[in-house]
Amino acid sequence: MKKYETEIAACTAGNGPDNCVEIMMEECAELIQACSKYLRLQGLGAPPRDTPKDVRGMLVEEIADVKICIEQVIRALSLDQEAISLEMAFKLKRRLNGLYKETGDEVYKDIADGLCDWKNFDDEEEKYW
Ligand SMILES: [Mg+2]
Repeated sequence: MKKYETEIAACTAGNGPDNCVEIMMEECAELIQACSKYLRLQGLGAPPRDTPKDVRGMLVEEIADVKICIEQVIRALSLDQEAISLEMAFKLKRRLNGLYKETGDEVYKDIADGLCDWKNFDDEEEKYW
């Protein structure tokens, strides 16, 4: 059982599908703001008024919010967990292969080779959801 599964299920039922999607959209925007503040602290753009500790706290809070929302939207819209996992594997494999090509480091290739190879995104018809 996933952590907070009962609590997330109850919140999902209470919010309803459209509210879950709306809240996720808002929380993603808040996470974008926290990411922007982090990058500003690194010297990209005007420095924020927030301290590094505050910005780390914002990232933690907004990541938690978005993770909750993702779980709620998956449940509220009955999205296929296995399809999401396979999509993650595909995207991770694609990036790991890209890192191997960029760096020549075999570690990336070995990790990529360990992931499933179940679809070819050149053919959109291959998607099964
Ligand atoms: Mg938030």
